[in-house]
Amino acid sequence: MPRKRKANIAARFGHRYGRTLRKRWNEIMRRRTQTYTCPQCHKKAVKRQSVGIWLCSSCGNTFAGGAYEPLVVKA
Ligand SMILES: [Zn+2]
Repeated sequence: MPRKRKANIAARFGHRYGRTLRKRWNEIMRRRTQTYTCPQCHKKAVKRQSVGIWLCSSCGNTFAGGAYEPLVVKA
């Protein structure tokens, strides 16, 4: 049986910092690297440029949003 790849990137912390904090951190890091839907062209091409800056690779739309996820898209 092939070994399963660990999706939990918080595994690097081992047993440290507590289960709940590791779980929350993992969830935020996952949202940070995710691709989101563009509010302008509605394509799934928005990626995080920097803290709170989101860029659509399809139409070039740059907009401000949340630090770890573009909150504008959800609203
Ligand atoms: Zn776009």
